[in-house]
Amino acid sequence: MTDARSVLAERLAAVRSRIAGACSRAGRAPSDVTLVAVTKTVSAEVAALAVELGAPHLGENRPQELWKKAAAVPGATWHLIGHLQRNKIDRTAPLVALVHSVDSERLLLALDTFGRAAGAPVPVLLEVNCSGEASKGGFDPAAVPALGDALAALAGVSVRGLMTMAAYDANPEATRPTFARLRALRDALRARTGLPLPELSMGMSNDFEVAVEEGATLVRLGTVLFEGLEGDR
Ligand SMILES: *Cc1c(COP(=O)(O)O)cnc(C)c1O
Repeated sequence: MTDARSVLAERLAAVRSRIAGACSRAGRAPSDVTLVAVTKTVSAEVAALAVELGAPHLGENRPQELWKKAAAVPGATWHLIGHLQRNKIDRTAPLVALVHSVDSERLLLALDTFGRAAGAPVPVLLEVNCSGEASKGGFDPAAVPALGDALAALAGVSVRGLMTMAAYDANPEATRPTFARLRALRDALRARTGLPLPELSMGMSNDFEVAVEEGATLVRLGTVLFEGLEGDR
């Protein structure tokens, strides 16, 4: 674990410096970008190391795995970044700071019902399929502006912005139009609803610098931090 600690410390420093470089190219402040360390491939012990090393925002794509790690990792702020089944809302929403992956109107309405009953709106992002890949979830970009009209009526959710995944491309520059598109959609939705919508969750290990240049406020990084550090799961 000592070894994992030093490897992870170095990788976190390298990633932070790459984020700072992208911010500087875009005239942004590095403090405007939150690093979400995606722990889905590593043990709770390795996830805990990330928190100890100053990366408290952790992301999981499967609710059950998030429940397990949330119980085992002290001091983390959790982000759900993968599909949430409606029957898992009750157990998941109380554990997470943000659900990045609201991918249907049905799920949005179910979260609204939960948030109303709980007396506290659930913070969420709407996942948009900007790349058009059939394998990826999320709202059709064409459907997003019309959704805006419904959002104001939802007292049980707090829609904080949008999330997307770019198609993998060996040349990260190829992802730029996907990220620019998400930002444009957010700007249009903001104009239509008057909601501040401050967050753009976009950028993974392969393409986070381009995403930051295009306005990402949350980058979701797994491989670049944790490759080879699986630990015992
Ligand atoms: C796994 C995952 C990531 C992290 O991907 P890497 O390429 O390993 O950085 C980011 N976002 C989502 C939704 C994921 O499922």
